[in-house]
Amino acid sequence: MERPQYRVVITDCDHGSVEEEKEELGAMGADLTLAQVRKEEDLIRVCKEADGLINQYALLTRRVLENLPKCKVVARYGVGVDSIDLRAATDSGIIVANVPDYCIDEVASHTVAMILTLARKTAFFDRKVKSNQWDFRQGMPIDRIQGKTLGLIGCGRIGFEVARRISAFGVKVLAFDPYIQRAEEGIELTDLETILRRSNFISIHCPLNDSTRHLIGEKEFQIMEKRPLLINTSRGPIVKEKALIQALKKGHISGAGLDVLETEPPDPGNPMLKMENVIFSPHVGFYSEESISELKRRTAKNVADVLMGRQPRSVVNREVMGKTRASISSD
Ligand code: NAD
Repeated sequence: MERPQYRVVITDCDHGSVEEEKEELGAMGADLTLAQVRKEEDLIRVCKEADGLINQYALLTRRVLENLPKCKVVARYGVGVDSIDLRAATDSGIIVANVPDYCIDEVASHTVAMILTLARKTAFFDRKVKSNQWDFRQGMPIDRIQGKTLGLIGCGRIGFEVARRISAFGVKVLAFDPYIQRAEEGIELTDLETILRRSNFISIHCPLNDSTRHLIGEKEFQIMEKRPLLINTSRGPIVKEKALIQALKKGHISGAGLDVLETEPPDPGNPMLKMENVIFSPHVGFYSEESISELKRRTAKNVADVLMGRQPRSVVNREVMGKTRASISSD
């Protein structure tokens, strides 16, 4: 039997099947192995002959990467690449690629679902009716959605899609994003203070980093004049949870929709779990059957691209370009 031209190893993954990866890599005659290993020794042993790796949680340390003489590419499922020693990869000429945009539709729709659920109090009424309470007055007051203002903190791929969706409800959109000069039509760029003062709904869509950790704390909640609903589908630590709990208790905000928390899952004693005006989901914004399938396919394609001499769509360690182990065509 003819030897496969390329060997690709999936170090580990928690997906039910690897059919999409097989299809994508099988088309170029690559041999795919699902290893499900996480220890350094095991990783070195099973990946030694690999031309490319796909990785989810297993730590690809310098020691591991320096012991993979044939490896030209590591493709990570999803956005984060904390599992990979990027400098070591670059030093070995290994391209690290990710898929930063496989779930934009899902997170944007989830955000709007949370705004509507809170504004129309549908989860609240559902609980009441199921406990035999049929009385719309219990949910009073409910304000009309049309004509209200949504303030976005971060207006990249997801923020923009939230703006596009909510506009259909007649909601005006403001955005604070220090890294964009011009917003799309229908979005008014402004400063953070204006967002906090003028918004009826505030939704967070910036990344978590040193400058955004606890971006929303005591001071910010105090200047929220309109008692807004706060939605966080980005990362928990962007909102200081202690301050959020106080803001809810004091009525500075009228409710919160949280897909992400500072501690996931929440401590069973977290007081927000008992608040009627707070809704949760278990960090599920990214998920749909389609988004996962797309993620798997595009991760495998990143590997296939490098092995076929093409630059993949999203290279994380850009400084590796020009000194890659794979020969990558410049066009
Ligand atoms: P993106 O990079 O397209 O957009 C992020 C935007 O935030 C950029 O426009 C950037 O300029 C802006 N920004 C950076 N620092 C800021 C600051 N200090 N203040 C205000 N804006 C700032 O990213 P995206 O694809 O829109 O994703 C946004 C976030 O959503 C991700 O960082 C991630 O944390 C989160 N996310 C959550 C899920 C989930 O399952 N809940 C899934 C995917 C992404």
